Amino acid sequence: MDFKFPEAAEKFRLEVREFLKKELTPEIRDEYAHCTDYPHGFNKAFSRKLGAKGWLTITWPKEYGGLGLDVWHRVVFDEEMAAAHAPVAAHQVSANFVGPALIHYGTEEQKKKYLPPIARGETVWAVGMTEANAGTDLASIETRAVRDGDEWVINGNKMYTEHLQDADYYWVLVRTDPSAERHRGISIMVLDTRTPGIQVLPLWTMDGYRVNQVYFEDVRVPADAILGEVNRGFYHLAMTLNTMRSAGLGGWTESRRDLEDLVLYCKATKVNGRPLIADEWVKNGLAEFMIYNQISRLLAYRVASMLENGGPAPDKETAVRQVWGKVYGQLHVKFACDLLGMAGQVGHYSPEFAPMFARWERRYMGSIAGAHNGGTPENALNTVALRVLGLPR
Ligand SMILES: Cc1cc2nc3c(=O)[nH]c(=O)nc-3n(C[C@H](O)[C@H](O)[C@H](O)COP(=O)(O)OP(=O)(O)OC[C@H]3O[C@@H](n4cnc5c(N)ncnc54)[C@H](O)[C@@H]3O)c2cc1C
Repeated sequence: MDFKFPEAAEKFRLEVREFLKKELTPEIRDEYAHCTDYPHGFNKAFSRKLGAKGWLTITWPKEYGGLGLDVWHRVVFDEEMAAAHAPVAAHQVSANFVGPALIHYGTEEQKKKYLPPIARGETVWAVGMTEANAGTDLASIETRAVRDGDEWVINGNKMYTEHLQDADYYWVLVRTDPSAERHRGISIMVLDTRTPGIQVLPLWTMDGYRVNQVYFEDVRVPADAILGEVNRGFYHLAMTLNTMRSAGLGGWTESRRDLEDLVLYCKATKVNGRPLIADEWVKNGLAEFMIYNQISRLLAYRVASMLENGGPAPDKETAVRQVWGKVYGQLHVKFACDLLGMAGQVGHYSPEFAPMFARWERRYMGSIAGAHNGGTPENALNTVALRVLGLPR
C-alpha cells in the first residue's frame, strides 16, 4: 500500500516547516513547555498568524475564508503542528467544531458574520454541551430557552466548558421544547459572551487545566441566535461531534516526537551503571509504543481518506480511533512515567529535576482528565459495539 501524500501536499509540508522555524519562537516553545492551563498551548497571536495564511481552514470553501484544498493538506498541516508542539488551543474549537457546524446549518447572515473572523483566527469560541446532570447522555440537558417576543430567555447551567474565560462567543445546547420527546426539543444557540446574565466560574482538573462552570440567569438573546432548525439541535450536534472527532488527524506525530525524545533519554541515562536502553522491558515497551503510534497513524489516514473521498465525517472509524487514542494511549504514557521512575513524577515547576520538561508527567495527568474530553472512551466503545459489531443496544 502506498501512503505517499500528493506532491502538492508534500510541498506544502515544507512551507509549513519553514513557517514554524521562523514563527515558533523560543518564547512560544517555552510557554508551551510550561503551560498548565492549556495542554495544547493557547496563544491567540500565533493563531492569528496561522489564520493570516488561511491554514486554520484549509479545506473550507474559499467564499468563507478557506483555501478550498484537499484533506491531505490539512493532515500535513496537523502533522507538522503536532510534531513541532505548536499551540492550537486558541483556534481548534472555532475552526474544527463551530465553523463546520456554521457552514452546514448557519444562515447566510450567520456565515458572513462568524466564518471570516474564525478563518482569520480572530475569534475564540467555547462550546457548552455538558451540564451537571447531562454528559454522555446529552439528550438530558435541562438548560432552558423560552421564547419571549423576538428574544429567547435562557436559564440553567453548563459544566466543564473549556476556553470560556477567553472566548468571544459561546455555542450552547439548550432545551426549547420540554414537552417534546427528549431528543426532539433541543436547539443550538450562539451567544456573545458579553451578554448580561452569564456567570463563569473556574473549575480546575487534576492536571491544572481550567474548565468552567457556567450559570445563565435570564440571559436574553435575539431570535436569530438559533443555529439550524429549532428543536433539531440534537441531530445537528451528532454530525458536528463526528466532524470535530475527525479533526486533528496529525496528532500521532506529537506522540512520535515524544517517543523519539524518550528513546534518546533511555540511551543517554544509566541506572546502576547500565544504560536504560539495555533493559529488555525498556526495549519491549518502546517497541510497543512505536507499534501503537503507527496504528494511530493508520487510523488517522483511514478517516482522512474517507473524508477525501467525499463522505461525511465517519462515525465508526472515528469511534475506533477514539478508543485507540484514549485507552491504549494511556498505557504507553504510563509506561513512560514508570520508566522515568521518581523523576517522572516531578512537575514542570522543578524543571531541573524533571526530564523532558516534565512532558510525561503532564501527559500522564492529561491522559486521565482528557479521556473525558469530547466524549468518554466508554461512549466510543458503545459506538463500536453498536455500529461496527452490530451488537444489541
Ligand atoms: C478536560 C475536559 C474538557 C472538557 N471540555 C468540555 C467543553 O468544552 N464543553 C463541554 O460541553 N463539555 C466539556 N467536557 C465535558 C465532557 O464532554 C464530559 O465530561 C463527558 O462527555 C462525560 O460526561 P460526564 O462528565 O457528565 O460523565 P458521565 O456521562 O456522567 O459519565 C460518567 C462515567 O460513566 C460512563 N458512562 C456514562 N454513560 C455510559 C453508557 N451508556 N455506557 C457505558 N458507560 C457510560 C462514562 O463513560 C464515564 O466513565 C470536558 C471534560 C474534560 C475532562
